Amino acid sequence: DLYFSEEIRAVGSDGIRVMMESALTARDRVGVQDFVLLENHTSEVAFIENLRKRFKENLIYTYIGSVLVSMNPYKELEIYTKQHMERYRGVNFYEVSPHIYAVADNAYRSMRTERRDQCILISGESGAGKTEASKKVLQYYAVTCPASEHVQTVKDRLLQSNPVLEAFGNAKTLRNDNSSRFGKYMDIQFDFKGAPVGGHIINYLLEKSRVVHQSHGERNFHIFYQLIEGGEDDLLRRLGLEKNAQQYQYLVKGNCPKVSSINDRNDWKIMRKALSIIGFTDDEVEELLNIIASVLHLGNVQYGGEDSGSAYITTETQIKYLARLLGVDGTVLKEALTHKKIIAKGEELMSPLNQEQAASARDALSKAIYGRTFTWLVNKINDSLAFKVWTHSVNASVIGLLDIYGFEVFQNNSFEQFCINYCNEKLQQLFIELTLKSEQEEYEAEGITWEPVQYFNNKIICDLVEEKFKGIISILDEECLRPGDASDITFLEKLEDTVGGHAHFLTHKLADGKTRKVMGREEFRLIHYAGEVNYNVNGFLDKNNDLLFRNLKEVRAQAQKKNYIYIYIYIYIYFHSIYLSIYLSTATQFKNSLAKLMEILMSKEPSYVRCIKPNDAKQAGRFDEVLIRHQVKYLGLMENLRVRRAGFAYRRRYETFLQRYKSLCPDTWPNWDGRLVDGVSTLVKYLGYKPEEYKLGRTKIFIRFPKTLFATEDALEV
Ligand code: ATP
Ligand code: MG
Repeated sequence: DLYFSEEIRAVGSDGIRVMMESALTARDRVGVQDFVLLENHTSEVAFIENLRKRFKENLIYTYIGSVLVSMNPYKELEIYTKQHMERYRGVNFYEVSPHIYAVADNAYRSMRTERRDQCILISGESGAGKTEASKKVLQYYAVTCPASEHVQTVKDRLLQSNPVLEAFGNAKTLRNDNSSRFGKYMDIQFDFKGAPVGGHIINYLLEKSRVVHQSHGERNFHIFYQLIEGGEDDLLRRLGLEKNAQQYQYLVKGNCPKVSSINDRNDWKIMRKALSIIGFTDDEVEELLNIIASVLHLGNVQYGGEDSGSAYITTETQIKYLARLLGVDGTVLKEALTHKKIIAKGEELMSPLNQEQAASARDALSKAIYGRTFTWLVNKINDSLAFKVWTHSVNASVIGLLDIYGFEVFQNNSFEQFCINYCNEKLQQLFIELTLKSEQEEYEAEGITWEPVQYFNNKIICDLVEEKFKGIISILDEECLRPGDASDITFLEKLEDTVGGHAHFLTHKLADGKTRKVMGREEFRLIHYAGEVNYNVNGFLDKNNDLLFRNLKEVRAQAQKKNYIYIYIYIYIYFHSIYLSIYLSTATQFKNSLAKLMEILMSKEPSYVRCIKPNDAKQAGRFDEVLIRHQVKYLGLMENLRVRRAGFAYRRRYETFLQRYKSLCPDTWPNWDGRLVDGVSTLVKYLGYKPEEYKLGRTKIFIRFPKTLFATEDALEV
């Protein structure tokens, strides 16, 4: 039932009472299930009110047209059972109450019937429920899609990739006990029968700095605690680890070894089993854990200072373990951790580091190792999910799932926020292009004249960030490569010189030489589509420097262990950055991978899920209006609604419309025998629709204002 099914369900046993009440009262209490039906669609107050009403009734899902808005309930709701999955299977989007399963099913059916690749884009701030939503989609496919023996393995592996990636890529933060510290795009491949046959994962921008430092109340990546809490005695002995997280410098910074919502020991078992299901051999698991243990040992490497100021290592045990675990020579390792290689007059020299420099060299190595290990892990999972063409006859169709960080605005915003918000600008651009395109296509398909929509095109901001030579990333790279006195501050000065006049860029300097008091001297401000953000340039150069190694062959021959990560570590330790043959900065790598992502998404038909976090306390039932209003803004939901409402608020296929309202007109009741379009035309004329209020397309009626529809809806109740 179009309007009342979910209301009745919401009040449960009280359903009958609801049915007795007028339509208006029901709408009053639980709001509308599609924001396009709001009377005043430009009012943010009305928007938030609708969210509030529904949230109170545990109705966490609401549409804006085909976009799903999802509120995190912070409690288990009985809406993800197998029966629920069945209810959404093969059913038209609008005939059931809004649900993540409806989005999943709709994408699946479009893929099957139109043979068009799909993608589901999930966004929202940390803790809003993106990862949970993406897991729900995956579970929906795992349960409802046809299966064969081989497919069962694929389904298992797809599902099991989650605990593994979460162990290595998620951590407890202040915002979320299970926060994904990387962006993730996952393709699920289906064969011609609609059974999942493979998958592929691309990861974005892992937050490597967490390996060596955590803010108060936060933790390192889950895997470290899982290993220490859950690892078998034997294993820990081999790795030289103690069963006590407090022993490890990299695990004590946040002063938060235990989290009540997390059971590390149990998660270890789940993760370990998942590795086996995905197809990791025992040797591979051992190698992987060797490296995780090495990172912990590295963190415990400590330095003393010679009179000359040069650093020396005071913790021999750690070096012993590291040499064994990594398959490198202890002396070489020690030198690598206390010296840097420089070229003077064409000669290579080892120049000693002081204590502080040595500590940051150590941390840089830890971050690099962890980052590479994560990439290696994703590659291994991809190998295991790879679609084996020879076992299936027809090429696959694809549904992509994007679970990526939403717009971030903190008190202090750094390089990470810069990258994340840039990513959101790109996604917004894609969203506008694709939404307008699909609206336009629908109008065309229905033979209705297209009415252009005014919208803010954020391409200008994307260009500001990414343009060749003149964009912020180019300028940053230039400073990173410039020998001599380059620093975060010279980077900021270059920005002022180059993009100072841009309409979306500001610093504390005003054009007349005065200073803007509200901004720090180390900040620049970007005026994003979703709002203004100040970025502190501190650490930009360091974070942007990443080393990529090529020509690995000869090193591979020398290294004791042949695994990809070990080789990487070997190069790092034996050759320092001298071995570099190519430089690609973090920001440029990210920019390139985003460009690829946009290409992938452009080729697919998108569905959108916008997640909202109701409060900062991770509590059920609390609706923090200020926080929610921010998210409505940063998610661009009002703009969303505006674009969707620019033409017609409501559109339905003729048969659906006629079926529902035919009882209101003697000519269409009980049945209309003629053409559907004529039936609908007769019906709406009888109901007194004015010509400007609606249009009749090839298969659908388009209604401009919700009030027209509500009047009809109310007439049903009389
Ligand atoms: P991050 O960007 O930090 O990774 P996220 O958007 O992925 O955040 P999730 O990890 O999906 O957030 O959700 C945070 C927590 O909120 C979950 O661990 C869970 O406790 C709760 N949660 C989210 N969605 C739901 C839901 N549909 N039902 C019940 N609880 C939920
Ligand atoms: Mg997440």
